[in-house]
Amino acid sequence: MTNALPAIFVERLQHIIPTDKLAEVLASFSQPAMTVFRVNTLKATPLDVCEELRVVGLNPMPIDWQPLAFQVPEEQRRPLTETAAFYEGRLYVQNLSSQLAPLILDPQPGETILDLAAAPGGKTSQMAAMMQNQGILSAVEPVRDRFFRLKANLQQQGVTIARTYMTDGRSVGAKCPEMFDRVLLDAPCSSEARFDANDADSVAHWSLQKVKEVSHKQKRLLSAAIHSLKPGGTLVYSTCSFAPEENERIVEAQLKSFGDAIAIQPIDLPIGNWQAGLPEWDGKVFHPDIQHCRRILPDAMMDGFFICKLIKRTNTC
Ligand code: SAM
Repeated sequence: MTNALPAIFVERLQHIIPTDKLAEVLASFSQPAMTVFRVNTLKATPLDVCEELRVVGLNPMPIDWQPLAFQVPEEQRRPLTETAAFYEGRLYVQNLSSQLAPLILDPQPGETILDLAAAPGGKTSQMAAMMQNQGILSAVEPVRDRFFRLKANLQQQGVTIARTYMTDGRSVGAKCPEMFDRVLLDAPCSSEARFDANDADSVAHWSLQKVKEVSHKQKRLLSAAIHSLKPGGTLVYSTCSFAPEENERIVEAQLKSFGDAIAIQPIDLPIGNWQAGLPEWDGKVFHPDIQHCRRILPDAMMDGFFICKLIKRTNTC
């Protein structure tokens, strides 16, 4: 067995992950991820989808804290993606960590919602289902082929409330000030949580320089997301990176720039595999509220993930 994980990445993890969890976290990079899907309630019920899958020999098992999510054994991943339920959008294959961000944002039917980094649309379609296709759901994606994949996925999932925009999310704050009830920024990131210790290609594009570059973009995207949020509105910022430069430090920068106009909110998680936002990094102590952020620790079932929930108290434009 190879270990393709970059040495600097592993060294940094030792300063990020609690010591008693480090071995399990490192092992998770060598394990095949469990296949989890979400039932799309715009098209079907969990009962119907599970019955449909059992008829073709699959064995979906429920997830106790998410009634719309089910797992199948690894050898059933491919057959799952060859079913009519998959092709016709009655289910969507989506890691449980990814499903958490919309659950925490909690979009409601009739609201005006922004998904500022949307492709391929797993969370956009989840939010449309939570909104029962009622309200307005704006979805932004600047990368052309990913934009068309987003549109195709939303159509396949039966989403009728989405307005899709091929544009840079950094421009949205100025274009749409204080417009949205809730905003999701599932930011472009260094994707460290997707590393596979058995696949050198999965880490080939990673470097500390890349982390630094993407963090500049994240900072400006989160600033735009905050500007686009109505006073009283809720925002969720998430990444699939472990790097504090892409997580706590991005949130800290917004607290510095927006002051009391925003406030970090506590997050209750229905799972045990998490740690609080880091209190400090690289000799710099963060604002104490940053510890309300949550880091999902990867295990056999869930990918690593960072989630911050904030509210906007007053106008910022
Ligand atoms: N939320 C998506 C989902 O659940 O299916 C995944 C989003 S992915 C982590 C981040 C996305 O942000 C990518 O599709 C990437 O192309 C897009 N992106 C990159 N630069 C961006 C920018 N300047 N503004 C908005 N989105 C951007």
